Amino acid sequence: MQFERINLNRRSLLKTAVAVGATSTLGLSACSDNKPEFILPKLEGAIGKDGKRVQPWRNWSGNQSCEHNELLVPKNSDDLIAMVKQTKQRIRLVGSGHSFSALVPTNESLMSLAYFNGISNVDVKTKQFDVAANTVLAAAGAELWQHGLSLQNMPDINTQTFAGAIATSTHGTGINFGSMSTTVKQMTLVNGLGEEVNCSADENTELFNAARTNIGALGAVTNIRIEAEDKYYLKETSWMLGLEEGLANMEKLRDQHRHFEFYALPHADYILGITLDKVKETELLEQKVNNGDAYETFRTLSKVVDAVPFLRSFIVNAGASRVEKEVRTGKNYEVFGNLRDIQFNEMEYSVPAEYGVACLREILATIKKQNIDVIFPIEVRYIQADDIWLSPFYQQDCCAISCHNFHDKDYKKYFAIIEPIFWKYQGRPHWGKVHTLTAKEQRARYPKFDDFLKVRQQMDPKNIFTNDHINTVLGLG
Ligand SMILES: Cc1cc2nc3c(=O)[nH]c(=O)nc-3n(C[C@H](O)[C@H](O)[C@H](O)COP(=O)(O)OP(=O)(O)OC[C@H]3O[C@@H](n4cnc5c(N)ncnc54)[C@H](O)[C@@H]3O)c2cc1C
Repeated sequence: MQFERINLNRRSLLKTAVAVGATSTLGLSACSDNKPEFILPKLEGAIGKDGKRVQPWRNWSGNQSCEHNELLVPKNSDDLIAMVKQTKQRIRLVGSGHSFSALVPTNESLMSLAYFNGISNVDVKTKQFDVAANTVLAAAGAELWQHGLSLQNMPDINTQTFAGAIATSTHGTGINFGSMSTTVKQMTLVNGLGEEVNCSADENTELFNAARTNIGALGAVTNIRIEAEDKYYLKETSWMLGLEEGLANMEKLRDQHRHFEFYALPHADYILGITLDKVKETELLEQKVNNGDAYETFRTLSKVVDAVPFLRSFIVNAGASRVEKEVRTGKNYEVFGNLRDIQFNEMEYSVPAEYGVACLREILATIKKQNIDVIFPIEVRYIQADDIWLSPFYQQDCCAISCHNFHDKDYKKYFAIIEPIFWKYQGRPHWGKVHTLTAKEQRARYPKFDDFLKVRQQMDPKNIFTNDHINTVLGLG
């Protein structure tokens, strides 16, 4: 079988993987029987107080949805306080709806702080700025740059809201960088009693320790003060390594670069390494890197796999072996932001950094052994330890390992096989991604779990900011 030489870059590789998996008809595996459990439920919308149907809600991938009976969109803090004081039912806050776990769904009130938008009070001396809760991460880049500032790090995408990202300890990669929650200096919340409360390292410190990863269970966050750093340019290098070479070098690469992550390809002998380091303006590449045509790669490999599905491993290896090294440079927020236009579902656990290689090895071996029908790359990142009570990185440097599958594939069976491997390596799940842990298991993972519950009880004694999932993961009700 002949492959033409294709300039397959990082983004098109991910799409290619999606393409190959989406078209694979291999019927031998543990995960290949397409049961209707992941087919989106038909939603009509609940009847609201005015007798009209309320538009139902779905998250980004479609694996979470709800028919709430009321949508609350306060225009300002006074409005928000009044709504909380007057409510006769529970409220769940929603940001951009980019969580894969059931943090948001409710059949009572759904609240969006869409009017709480924008950046203000940029202080160049302290490198701090205020951001209204519902501002999306993408809005910060250019605006902070004008003041000579930038976010310290960013996650894979930039369409989450600041409040939503902080609620779940959203993170990027880099062993010397904590999650976004660690950059928070001060927060303002409206609690379940309709009181406005501030917290910081010096004021209401217990609340501050709880609120920086709050899973929307302490009240409505309205404003966040964030610490930035001087603006910087980045150089990103991505290249394909042999699997063994990559695993042998992953800790070295992690320590040598400002940011390092990699994608391990299931059923294949390759990993894609990505490093990001600061560069000076004079070192910027003149020409924009040609990102290639992702859809062309998609079509090519899809057709091949359609014709010979039993050659999955060979095809992915052949595709991977043709990936060329790619370098791009630019303002940090331009380099960080990825486009994710193919929907997927995701499970992510963070294991102590020293267990990262062993855990990943076991996952890859299990996928092969059980012939799991997945080729979606597994993302591996490093995050620095912090002191935030419900942070997956609480008091431990971590290696975060993320398993994905297409939104229309039965991700649950794949994740069910992999999740116990994460438990074996003392993993803590991402609060915003798929997992099956209840309060019992979460308490065992978080030394400050009961301290969080104490603060939650003070902030929301009437359990207004709860839903079934919150009750399950926190052991309420
Ligand atoms: C394509 C994609 C890529 C992703 N990449 C990464 C990544 O690189 N790193 C990573 O760590 N995660 C990643 N995630 C996960 C995502 O960052 C988190 O799930 C994040 O919490 C989503 O933010 P959101 O604004 O969409 O909030 P939502 O998902 O809408 O809500 C998340 C939580 O925040 C609460 N909340 C929202 N607004 C408020 C408020 N004003 N006050 C109080 N609580 C509030 C909600 O109640 C809920 O509990 C990714 C998700 C997707 C879909």
